[in-house]
Amino acid sequence: MRYHIDTIPVWDAVKAKCGCPLCYLRTDIEEKDVDRFLGGSVMDPDTRIRVNEKGFCRRHHKMLYARQNRLGHALMMDSCMIETSARFIRIMDEAARPNGAKRTFRLPGMKRGGEGDSALEKLRALSSSCVLCDSIEENLRRYRYTIAYLFKTDRAFREAFPEMGFCLDCIPPLVEMAGEELSGEDMRALLAALKEGTGKLLAEEEKNLKNFTLLFDYRNAGKTIEGTKGALEKAVNTLRGKCLDEPS
Ligand SMILES: [Zn+2]
Ligand SMILES: [Zn+2]
Repeated sequence: MRYHIDTIPVWDAVKAKCGCPLCYLRTDIEEKDVDRFLGGSVMDPDTRIRVNEKGFCRRHHKMLYARQNRLGHALMMDSCMIETSARFIRIMDEAARPNGAKRTFRLPGMKRGGEGDSALEKLRALSSSCVLCDSIEENLRRYRYTIAYLFKTDRAFREAFPEMGFCLDCIPPLVEMAGEELSGEDMRALLAALKEGTGKLLAEEEKNLKNFTLLFDYRNAGKTIEGTKGALEKAVNTLRGKCLDEPS
């Protein structure tokens, strides 16, 4: 067993019937993680070290900022800033040494992918890594593993699977994980069930989205068409992974 099996949240996500179960789980982990980082974990040395090293991406800074805990946010950024500034100076100092630039940056004429790119990567990492994205992905790997495990071992889950619709963003890593954990026969069954469930979801959303656009026709003024509420948001979320709030 490579990951801890966590069946309850997976079943909860399926029963919630709120679109893609993995997006539902991602939203849940993300909300809790943002609170956790702004809460007691700010002072936890291990978390502090990881925050200092990785920082946060733009999306997660916006979420942290929206929580209105300016002191908690600023305390994390204070030590992160100190460490990031020092790393920036180290990278630039290395480049400034004799032949340093040649070793650390790709100068005109140097080939792409060569030795010069490593410092560029370090520079890019200063603003592209995110401790929250890493934490969410770590949890999602565990949930994908749990889904493959439940598909293999739990009859009720397997029977419910063709009724689940996953978004197109969550499917590739789920299929990748299932491919490592399932037998050929189970894998074929999972792919067929995935095609059925998500195929149905896409067809349904395609129809609802079409009807939604028809509501803007003056001939349909004042009309309501079933399934059109949130049709745009749901379609976007299914095509690209949950990024828009759906009206309740
Ligand atoms: Zn998803
Ligand atoms: Zn992030």
